[in-house]
Amino acid sequence: MLNDPVTNVKGIGEKLGQGLNSLGIHTIEDLLFYFPSRYDVYEIKPLSELLHNDKVTIEGEVISEPSLAFYGKRKSRLSFNLQVEHVTVKAVMFNRSFAKKQLQVGDLVTVTGKWDQHRLQITVSNYKKGSAKSDAKIQPVYALKSDVSNLQIKKAVTTALSQFQDSLQEILPQDYLSAYKLPGRLEAVKQMHFPDNHQVLKHARRRFTYEEFLLFQLKMQLLRKRKRESTHGNSLEYEKGAVDEFVERLPFRLTAAQIRSLEEILKDLQSPYRMNRLLQGDVGSGKTAVAAIALYAAITAGKQGALMVPTEILAEQHFQSLTELFADQATVVLLTGSVKGKRRKQILQEIAAKKADIIVGTHALIQDEVHFRDLGLVIVDEQHRFGVEQRRILRDKGLHPDVLFMTATPIPRTLAITAFGDMDVSIIDEMPSGRKQVETYWVKENMLDRVLQFIQKEVDNGHQAYVICPLIEESDKLDIQNAVELYEQLKEIYAPKTNVGLMHGRLPSDEKEEVMRDFAANDIQVLVSTTVVEVGVNVPNASVMVIYDAERFGLSQLHQLRGRVGRGEAQSYCILVADPKGEVGKERMKIMTETANGFELSEEDLKLRGPGDFFGKKQSGIPEFRVADMVHDYRALETARMDAQKILESGSLDEDPQFKQLAMQVYNDKIVKGETLD
Ligand code: ADP
Ligand code: MG
Repeated sequence: MLNDPVTNVKGIGEKLGQGLNSLGIHTIEDLLFYFPSRYDVYEIKPLSELLHNDKVTIEGEVISEPSLAFYGKRKSRLSFNLQVEHVTVKAVMFNRSFAKKQLQVGDLVTVTGKWDQHRLQITVSNYKKGSAKSDAKIQPVYALKSDVSNLQIKKAVTTALSQFQDSLQEILPQDYLSAYKLPGRLEAVKQMHFPDNHQVLKHARRRFTYEEFLLFQLKMQLLRKRKRESTHGNSLEYEKGAVDEFVERLPFRLTAAQIRSLEEILKDLQSPYRMNRLLQGDVGSGKTAVAAIALYAAITAGKQGALMVPTEILAEQHFQSLTELFADQATVVLLTGSVKGKRRKQILQEIAAKKADIIVGTHALIQDEVHFRDLGLVIVDEQHRFGVEQRRILRDKGLHPDVLFMTATPIPRTLAITAFGDMDVSIIDEMPSGRKQVETYWVKENMLDRVLQFIQKEVDNGHQAYVICPLIEESDKLDIQNAVELYEQLKEIYAPKTNVGLMHGRLPSDEKEEVMRDFAANDIQVLVSTTVVEVGVNVPNASVMVIYDAERFGLSQLHQLRGRVGRGEAQSYCILVADPKGEVGKERMKIMTETANGFELSEEDLKLRGPGDFFGKKQSGIPEFRVADMVHDYRALETARMDAQKILESGSLDEDPQFKQLAMQVYNDKIVKGETLD
């Protein structure tokens, strides 16, 4: 019934129907759920409390004959005096010549409009005869386009409500409504359109926020479950004893969060389902360590493992640390774009012949020429840089390994469970003990000299520094030019005692490698770089990170850069050089100096930037909610997530009659019906 065309509502004809269609309203249900985008509040205040230039509503008696003046083509100005609390107020109305006939001296009217405190004048945008008190004070304002008016929608909704309200069924179980003190569905729809007061409006919004999140979570979790059960991965029979020994031999004890994540991953490896898991944790929280253990487990099961990373620098670094870590227990090879000729051929052969156990590399890993013999586990570092496309290529190659995505960009939990709703998520939310927090300072550009002196002092104490050069938006080329100039300057300043190095994305990879090696060996003390060092690079002796033009970076990116220091024993420092003009920029700098927690930072970033921006619009896959807001309502999202889990695990969705309506909504969803997301 509610799925009938909107023209079945009395008073909606062909023409209005088309107008509504263009707003995306096709069915009666669409109309009922076309909630106002905002509300006008007609609250009558005493004249003494009105503010200049504010939109206000006042009530008064017409005390002068409205006078109408025409000017220009079809333009008019109607003015009259109103007596409001013994004061004469002038009311001006543009292009409403018809109102002249409706307004007579002695009429009581309520007018809304912009208030001019100096002239005691109101420019009326809306008027109504009679007292405002008889009217609802909160008026819906709908998003409009085409030639449908706000009033037409109001009327259409009112009619639809009286005509079809019996068909609007409750979908949430009564127990949930009582537990969360949520209004019923019909009542909530009414209050969304025509709220009695702010309080009930708030509850109506709360209800639909929860309803939307719960439906969303039920669908995502259902999809995830189906995906798991329909894709047959391989069940890796790893050797638990050997893995335990490997963990024992590590130079540190795993944190509780690492152990928990590792257990989740190992369980996935062993299960016959294909792992599709996101491992997230702040910079330096020890994700790579967990990844290494997982790779080792795959080897003990007789499989090959691959580690894909976004940059060559990172690939080389991981290659080195894994080679050391595995020593004679596994053969680790490196495959990047710059491994060429004979060497490349040899490595490809080793991979195909399974002589290579662990393959570390960049995108090069998923090219046509690479043939894995028996790939059991793929770990993708920094998954937000890898993207959906690479996952598809892997699948198209006929490879169905378990896949673990790692990200050091701490995606707020709310977003992770939303955007990656069809993935399992493990979170390392704890830092290894004994880590010193990086001290962060924000300085203005005129303090650069002191910053440079500070670097010298740290270098004299045996430490090293990164200097991230100014960022020029959208121009890789100019960034590099900047880096080169800064490099020349610093070289001059610090010569001859201190060696300065240069790193940027366009350097030939053997040079990059050499620079990184020199920096790691402390042959270079000050490394000038573009943001290529942002991810993963690990030089524990570096204790200073200076970031030029810091206001141009997002919080998460600044945090990534800051994460390059504070990796060793020494106290480390991050110095943000910035003269932000706007408030948001200043706010960013302040937050950076105050917050060391990456998760908190990315929540803040999300608030400053909005979710679409956070992931890049296209890839986000973040659904549009009518009422709910992922950032502000994250608590409700978390509640809904847990409820959905309970509902699915207990089987209530299919069995408990209380859930019948909810189940229908879930199973009728296009995505749920049409299998997978990607
Ligand atoms: P991430 O990949 O999350 O940035 P890494 O795994 O690279 O973090 O770890 C950062 C540093 O901390 C490395 O030098 C690593 O050896 C060390 N580390 C990892 N886990 C622990 C732990 N539980 N205790 C102490 N140090 C650890
Ligand atoms: Mg890492």
